[in-house]
Amino acid sequence: MNIDVNGTPMRARSLFTEVQIRARVTQLSQEINRTYPPDEVLVVLMVLHGALLFTADLVRGLAMPTVIESVRLKSYQGTQSTGRVDIVGDTLPASLAGCHVLVVEDIIDTGRSMETLLAHLEGAGAKSVRIATLLDKPEAHEVDIKADFIGFSIGRNFVIGYGLDLDGRYRNLPYVAELIKT
Ligand code: 5GP
Ligand code: MG
Repeated sequence: MNIDVNGTPMRARSLFTEVQIRARVTQLSQEINRTYPPDEVLVVLMVLHGALLFTADLVRGLAMPTVIESVRLKSYQGTQSTGRVDIVGDTLPASLAGCHVLVVEDIIDTGRSMETLLAHLEGAGAKSVRIATLLDKPEAHEVDIKADFIGFSIGRNFVIGYGLDLDGRYRNLPYVAELIKT
């Protein structure tokens, strides 16, 4: 698929197929099931909009009583991080005190979004806070953030699909593709 990014023609090359993603997400659900007590509530804190598809598939494999909450962060314009991270709208859900919280992200790039969110979570009184991310870009980290559950580690290329967007588009693709210059 060819995509125009601000006048630069790019090609979207498949990186992970729908089948590969499904298999890996199933494994992650099982890892998460082994990590938490089976009868304690897990609050899945989905980071919108990117983690929408990942969360929907991940929670289907969870065995403990699960609550889904969401928070919306915004840092990207086009394929470049603006370097500023905002929590959009209200802050965090009120109901995190005493709960195990699993933050679910689409991708960790510089790590700044996750750093901001974790700082906000500090005062929430959660019993534990862990991070699940579908994708991780270890070479791009600018802060010391390590996710507890990682779907796939990838290089620096911008990726789209399975929740990840380019200016709001392409989140619906059932696979993950990387953008490369043509
Ligand atoms: P960070 O704060 O770690 O630099 O970036 C985190 C957010 O930026 C991610 O949750 C995601 O929304 C967006 N982002 C980072 N890298 C990519 C990418 O390659 N593709 C897309 N579509 N979004 C990205
Ligand atoms: Mg995100």
